[in-house]
Amino acid sequence: MHIITRDRIVYSFNRDYRPVQQVDPGDKIRFETYDARTGTILNESDLLDQPHPRGLNPATGPVFVRGAEPGDTLCVEIQAIQLASQGFIGIKAGTGNLGHLAEHYVTKIVRIEGDTAHFDDRIRFPIRPMIGVIGTAPADEAVPTLYPGPHGGNMDHQDVKVGSRVYLPVFVEGALFGLGDVHAAMGDGEISMLGIEISAEVTVGLELIKGKSINRPWIETANAWITTGDAPKLVDAITIACEEMASLLQRKLEISFEEAYLLMSATGDVRIGQVCNPNNFPATIRVVFPKINPT
Ligand code: CA
Ligand code: CA
Repeated sequence: MHIITRDRIVYSFNRDYRPVQQVDPGDKIRFETYDARTGTILNESDLLDQPHPRGLNPATGPVFVRGAEPGDTLCVEIQAIQLASQGFIGIKAGTGNLGHLAEHYVTKIVRIEGDTAHFDDRIRFPIRPMIGVIGTAPADEAVPTLYPGPHGGNMDHQDVKVGSRVYLPVFVEGALFGLGDVHAAMGDGEISMLGIEISAEVTVGLELIKGKSINRPWIETANAWITTGDAPKLVDAITIACEEMASLLQRKLEISFEEAYLLMSATGDVRIGQVCNPNNFPATIRVVFPKINPT
């Protein structure tokens, strides 16, 4: 197994970055990831009021996948997510969906014990580990790891979790794959702008699908096909994710556009990745469609 250590981080998906490791399709890789503040928030007096000393939302990598060329698809199987023993949630005064009510900066350290997040001595809840940032290098301009896009990036979808396969477009030779921004849990919407931000070790298997291109990431779980969309306006992100699902269902079920549209409306769910900064930052959407095997 390849191990990519936590010091090998980047703050953008960039075709010009030197890969930290070369791997072959079929290889297993463990990525050590930093939390979204690169390990600088260690206790509740560390507030989010300071500019980040190094950058926001690092991704570990990039990894060069031998044989990957533009027009291929990279399939990433999430095999394990091992969390650190504590993470943090937080409020930045004046920001997030309730920014108008949030007057103060607050950092809350959350201890993780087994499958439980300890908000405090009284209030506990189950963890739902997921990966916020996962992607490949875009064809042209570099995209900061804070942003989502057709290359993946900061999508913040709960379904990027153990057992899922994430399909990513390959835009450049070697794909230049990376991931980071693990959350111990994050509610759909990520409304204060943070999930439980936490360092982690993520084990993935990489497969290459040659000669098959996709527009943007989609996700497969044991029970669902999931397409993604992002745009500055929430409604536009919904349209993109729905267009992607209409195409996917036509291929998977060998049906017409009209049949796909009907099925999506009947049993597909439009869900929000993040919509925490509506005027300044793209919203991310996914459409979750329960798998159907035509009989
Ligand atoms: Ca994120
Ligand atoms: Ca995050």
